[in-house]
Amino acid sequence: MRKPLRFDRSLEPLNRLIETFMRSRDRIRSRHSKIIAKWRLFPPEIIYALGATPYDLLLHEGLTRNLENLRVDGYAIEAGLSADSCPWNLTSTGMILSERDSPPIDIFLAGAGLCDVSSKSWQIMARQTGKPIYPVETPIFESNSQKRALSFIHEELSLLFARLGRRLGQQYSETRLQEEVKKGNKVRRLLLDVTGLLSQSSPPLNALEYFLIHATAGDYLQDPDYLATLISSVKDEAERRVDENRCPPGLVDDPARIYYVGMAPQDLQFWNMIEDSGGLLVGCETYLPLFYDSIPENGPVLEDFAKWIWMMPHHMAGADRAKALMRYIKEQKPDAIIIGNVAGCRSLSSSERIMKETLKEELGIPITSVEFGASEDDVTLLEPHIKAFIEICR
Ligand code: SF4
Repeated sequence: MRKPLRFDRSLEPLNRLIETFMRSRDRIRSRHSKIIAKWRLFPPEIIYALGATPYDLLLHEGLTRNLENLRVDGYAIEAGLSADSCPWNLTSTGMILSERDSPPIDIFLAGAGLCDVSSKSWQIMARQTGKPIYPVETPIFESNSQKRALSFIHEELSLLFARLGRRLGQQYSETRLQEEVKKGNKVRRLLLDVTGLLSQSSPPLNALEYFLIHATAGDYLQDPDYLATLISSVKDEAERRVDENRCPPGLVDDPARIYYVGMAPQDLQFWNMIEDSGGLLVGCETYLPLFYDSIPENGPVLEDFAKWIWMMPHHMAGADRAKALMRYIKEQKPDAIIIGNVAGCRSLSSSERIMKETLKEELGIPITSVEFGASEDDVTLLEPHIKAFIEICR
């Protein structure tokens, strides 16, 4: 029997935010604009600037499947996706193909060149539903190829605006993109502020609360202005918790401060497990690449955007990614780091060793790795490992 998820139901804005998050799938049904399913770490303002609504497909479908306990992977496997693909792709492809209450997607916007599994699954979804797909390629970061890479990303973005704009009947407008960047930056700054609160000696949010708040960076919950208002109220409440010396639910005395790096599991119980094991989440890198820094607002916006995308930490391999994250991790003053891998994902596992070594060398704190599979049991099976690891860090 599943345990109920633990978060503070007495914090009204937090409840509203989590409810808004969980209802994203229902909400897009009532939208009049086109719905664009986007790859997780593609910046959503580009879609807003074209008058469409972004939908972080992997995240919302993955959590919906998990919370409703739906079995849909078979549809994806039948359509040609390998059974050992990462669970996020298996789920979202299965949900779309099952046609069981599937979200009304008009267009697929896929990341190309970063993840083979993802490319294949998005191709399958587009082919089977007869909807168009637009891949956007971003080269892997290499400091000595900046000039070529920036002009490549700039070209990709211009092409995307031209092709998507034709389909949506919208022309690229620099002013419109700047406006969306300003709205996105407001959310980014608030997310960084909330993250900053976790660096305190008594952080005011528990792991699940923070994970869901920071994951709103994926698509701004279809309304960046409303989201900014919500996060701002959550931040006020969290600051009040700090002033009143109130702890979030589930914390033990003197917990170990844990920073999480990598893709998250679909099972939200994992976040509660951190506190149940004597830990406290002080930061999480899963969606950090979308708000690690603001995008310049007043210069040549497409050039600035291209540069910002190029510097996103998830476009970096091993040691570069670790170095890019170092500043953010240090600010949160962790006692230990958990690196999460998702079964079937090669993107982090192939560079994990060098990343681990780089982090360890610089920070000198314990680091462990875990691998998540698709089922609820996988997270439960990890509990002894997490408990033992956190115990030695306290
Ligand atoms: S978790 Fe790995 S395999 Fe899955 S979409 Fe992300 S990068 Fe690709």
